[in-house]
Amino acid sequence: MYAEIKENDIANGPGVRVSVFMQGCDLHCPGCHNSEIWDFNGGNPVDSDAIVKILNALEPEHVSGLSILGGEPLHPMNLKDTYEIIRAVRARYSVKKNIWLYTGYVFNPAITYMSVDEYNTYARSEEWIRDIKYLQESFIPADSEECMDTIRWILGDVDVLVDGPFIQSMYRPGIGFRGSTNQRIINMNASRCSSGKVYDIAEIDPINSEEYVFGVNPSKTDNKDLLKIRIKYFDKNMEKLQKVDGNKSDWIDLYTAEEVTLRAGDSYKIPLGVAMELPAGYEAIMAPRSGTFGKYGILQTNSIGVFDESFCGDTDQWIMSVYATRDTVIPKFARVAQFRLFKHQPAIKFNEVEVLSNTSRGGFGSTGI
Ligand code: SF4
Repeated sequence: MYAEIKENDIANGPGVRVSVFMQGCDLHCPGCHNSEIWDFNGGNPVDSDAIVKILNALEPEHVSGLSILGGEPLHPMNLKDTYEIIRAVRARYSVKKNIWLYTGYVFNPAITYMSVDEYNTYARSEEWIRDIKYLQESFIPADSEECMDTIRWILGDVDVLVDGPFIQSMYRPGIGFRGSTNQRIINMNASRCSSGKVYDIAEIDPINSEEYVFGVNPSKTDNKDLLKIRIKYFDKNMEKLQKVDGNKSDWIDLYTAEEVTLRAGDSYKIPLGVAMELPAGYEAIMAPRSGTFGKYGILQTNSIGVFDESFCGDTDQWIMSVYATRDTVIPKFARVAQFRLFKHQPAIKFNEVEVLSNTSRGGFGSTGI
């Protein structure tokens, strides 16, 4: 349920935004300005009308993004609605609109890689609580794997997370997009590229730095700050994909997951034995390796393969569609293809003109010399 959709909001994130206030919060921070929406029984349903209203409000170019705030968007009762809103916004606008999410809980990176039992044990452990004594019960609650998966999906898709409860004694006016100094404005894109380090925006760059806030900072992709991709191997014996070292070719080899026997003229979808959660805003482009045709006589039927970030389910195994030009046997675990990530295309508008004011090069194929 949501309490309010606020258009042209300038208080909850940078630029002009659409803010969606979810209904219900159980943290009850003393001094909360939104106590009238603590009750989980109030509010309006996040139905198709609400989604359309949010999407339309985001449409104008001057609107830079969406903020989802409290109530508590990550409370188990609001998770599904929060997920649906983000999913719809990403489907319509991809990364053209940034998404900020405010939670009264504290973000713990452990939630992104542990099982629900491990996470809850760790989240309640002395090790975790020691550093944040005042937040003892404030970790993001996850009581089932399904709930955990939804939280992971949401955290995997927001650009900025503002976390932590409002603490009256730590209230400082004018600290920018948050109420008390304990609350962190976390650059989730940078944090996802790190090995568990949480990048507070204030810690790494001024808040208005687009590169750091909304994109992956290329200088962060060194050995200690690699872009992390969750990958599933369908065969335990399969060669693990190699990390990119940034110096040599940055294409990553892919392997056949089974032995394939083809007659000349056969078409076949070769399973590649992996499924992945690509980072939001990226897609993978796959091409045959240079020796694949010579060795096995196969052609990739679509010339290139494209895996976008939505192809990320548990059974979404990558495949290579091929056509055999001769009788051939391709062994299991043969390196036949390669891929690399590309960022999504930026927003484009075609402006039709009668004349292009440049010197013509002499026709297609001409070097102009
Ligand atoms: S988490 Fe936010 S909405 Fe919930 S009580 Fe605290 S300040 Fe209010």
